[in-house]
Amino acid sequence: MQQIKIKCLVIREVDFSEHDRYITALTEHGRKLEILCRNARRKGSRTANAARLFCWSEMNLYERRGRYSLDDAALISSFWGITQDIEAYALACYFAELSAVMSDTGEETPALTRLFLGALYLLSGHKRPPAVIKPAFELRLMAESGFLPQLSPCAVCGAALAPADVWFSVRAGTAACGGCAKRLGADYRQLLPGTLAAMQHILSSDLKRVYAFALGGESLRLLGEICEDYTIYYTDKLFESLRFYHSLTGF
Ligand SMILES: [Zn+2]
Repeated sequence: MQQIKIKCLVIREVDFSEHDRYITALTEHGRKLEILCRNARRKGSRTANAARLFCWSEMNLYERRGRYSLDDAALISSFWGITQDIEAYALACYFAELSAVMSDTGEETPALTRLFLGALYLLSGHKRPPAVIKPAFELRLMAESGFLPQLSPCAVCGAALAPADVWFSVRAGTAACGGCAKRLGADYRQLLPGTLAAMQHILSSDLKRVYAFALGGESLRLLGEICEDYTIYYTDKLFESLRFYHSLTGF
């Protein structure tokens, strides 16, 4: 048996038996762990508040043959505001479901945990609108997970692209000039200049600044549509939590 001290973000919790809980957590290194928390629901338990959904905690774990159990945990942040806003909570649930899928490989993606923590911080404090946080999380997470879209040059003819004439195909994961896009067909959507600039920012900025951009109106709507389509296409999943989020936001 090995003892490990590590910071973890809880992305799923399942209560079972009388006092126990099972959690799924992302480590600070972006790896997914399933952790058994015995007695976590017992009255006065030291781990009760630190092994809850969306808590970022320092955990002492026992590892035995690839199975983890919680010995002790100290809460760093609970992102309490998340539970006070149903739209923010629903979005965080979708991020949790998406993160669980993207970390299925067992490999470490440190950017995943940092992106998620950044989103929780902003959502819980109402510091950025969910409609800005959602596409930024999706697109950067996909890029960090090996699905980096190419926004220049034209993937078909190689021409440099003017911001007013950039067309993007989710299926191809690449951009094309208007001439090539029209020849290739319906997969290509023309990007508004604001949408293109936001995508470039999301993909190239320091992780700390991924959510630091302003966008509204049709440009933001298009960004939301493209980033979600991109995520669904490459994960090939239907996310129940995403459907719930849309039922709240009304589109
Ligand atoms: Zn072209």
